[in-house]
Amino acid sequence: MFHVTARAWLIAYLILVTLPLWLMMIRPTPPARPFLVEASLALGFVGLIQMALQFALIARFRGLTAPLGIDTILRHHRRIAAVALLFVAAHPVMLALHEPSLWAAFDPFGGSWANRTGAWALYGLVLLALLSVGRKTLRLSYEAWRVSHAVLGIATIVLAHVHLNLAGRYTDVLWKELVLIAITLLAVSGFAWLRLIRPALAKRRPYRVARVHEEAGDVWSVDLEPDGHDGWRFEPGQFAYLTLGPNPYTLDEHPFSFSTSGERSARDGRVGFAIKELGDFTRRIGDVPVGTVAHLDGPHGSFTPDRHPAPGYVLISGGIGIAPMLSKIRTLRDRGDPRPVLLIHGEKRLEDVPYLGELRALEREMPLDLVLSLEEPPEGWDGERGFIDEAMLRRLWPDERFRRTVFVCGPNPMISAVESALRRIGVPDEDVHAERFDLV
Ligand SMILES: Cc1cc2nc3c(=O)[nH]c(=O)nc-3n(C[C@H](O)[C@H](O)[C@H](O)COP(=O)(O)OP(=O)(O)OC[C@H]3O[C@@H](n4cnc5c(N)ncnc54)[C@H](O)[C@@H]3O)c2cc1C
Repeated sequence: MFHVTARAWLIAYLILVTLPLWLMMIRPTPPARPFLVEASLALGFVGLIQMALQFALIARFRGLTAPLGIDTILRHHRRIAAVALLFVAAHPVMLALHEPSLWAAFDPFGGSWANRTGAWALYGLVLLALLSVGRKTLRLSYEAWRVSHAVLGIATIVLAHVHLNLAGRYTDVLWKELVLIAITLLAVSGFAWLRLIRPALAKRRPYRVARVHEEAGDVWSVDLEPDGHDGWRFEPGQFAYLTLGPNPYTLDEHPFSFSTSGERSARDGRVGFAIKELGDFTRRIGDVPVGTVAHLDGPHGSFTPDRHPAPGYVLISGGIGIAPMLSKIRTLRDRGDPRPVLLIHGEKRLEDVPYLGELRALEREMPLDLVLSLEEPPEGWDGERGFIDEAMLRRLWPDERFRRTVFVCGPNPMISAVESALRRIGVPDEDVHAERFDLV
């Protein structure tokens, strides 16, 4: 199911991206020009549609996020952006290689308006990429980056269309230009869906903060109860975007994994998160009064055993990566699920491990084995020490005939290290699913 759907999306994407090329081949067409010129125009068209489709890609359409997972989509969003930038930049370079006087087209304030708007679109795209890659180095807040990202993205697409209109040639035929504009508008309307319609849908199903409780390791348990509706079902390991306060039309929305049991939620509608203090929003979470209005956009993601059935699971987490694992474990316990679960959790100190008492109790209630690996273990500690690595995984891996599915969540370097260690100990890639909290 996963492969078919993902492949179907890939085929649809390739058709859409190359659509302008087929369109431009329909007569009437301008007189043929040298290959370099035609190839440069083709790259420009494809780059433009790729940029427009970026908006549809990140609009959190359930049909797209369910089979692929939002982190996979965002990873592709970044890769596609790099390819689009390459294509768009190659377009004027190839033209200038053919006709050296066109190097002047890179001057943002010289030449014709067709050249200027083309140059502005290219530089807008370069700036957008630089801000994304260098956000943390530049100390740009996530919120400021998001605004700049959206504004630059839309401005670049509008400028590219003006450039196309002024430069003419293939788009001299009105209906062809209109088809191109329609594809762009349709794709960019994903942005309206994301910023206007999704918050409106969330506003119709508000929640209230029911409990805020401090756990170990600067983590807060935050429970929400539905206000005037039954709540919705989620699968353990999924996440939602949370906004606090009466206005869901805000940039201050943050993704958090459900940490509570999906089964409990199905009964009373309550959902819970485990939130680690990290920045502006999360550091204020402990002060949020009970009764505060909250809105949720979700559930999202495919980091869930419900979509990856297996005879047993290995959960590997570090720090707050424990949150989606807790939801999985609590849900499997509530379902009376007999399948074995091995949880390997890495933390700096023992006193930082959140929910330790509950995890130890869960070991007695269900087929769960908990292994803790501590960077700074207390005196007399006889458990695992240091980062989770290949040797530790070899030592701990259950010796059994069936293949367990693995879920990994934690800091990015930990995920990368664990993924390659798993590969080295022979766990097939298709059995490993990772969720990165640090998306940008
Ligand atoms: C799928 C997913 C599930 C997550 N689940 C949990 C969880 O269960 N518990 C938990 O404590 N944390 C979770 N996080 C991380 C959490 O979203 C960030 O820690 C939080 O948004 C930080 O916000 P801040 O304002 O406190 O910190 P900031 O200093 O503003 O941000 C710190 C970092 O968090 C990320 N971030 C900030 N805002 C957003 C946003 N709106 N969207 C995406 N990333 C953002 C950025 O990479 C940023 O550099 C999850 C993240 C993702 C992507």
